Amino acid sequence: MSTTPATEVPTEEPRADVPKVRQCLRCEATFHSQWAGERICSRCKSSNTWRNGSPLGSGASGNGR
Ligand SMILES: [Zn+2]
Repeated sequence: MSTTPATEVPTEEPRADVPKVRQCLRCEATFHSQWAGERICSRCKSSNTWRNGSPLGSGASGNGR
């Protein structure tokens, strides 16, 4: 039995996953985005307007349960 030493180095480089001050696309307010994909401030996210615009709604008829 030959066990190889765990020398697995994750080659994941943080590209744009850094917190940065961006401008919200909704209210155009500057906020600290957690990652690059963060374009909406948390305030707008929690808002009903943001939830309404989300295509991923709940209650999609067709599911078994
Ligand atoms: Zn906003």
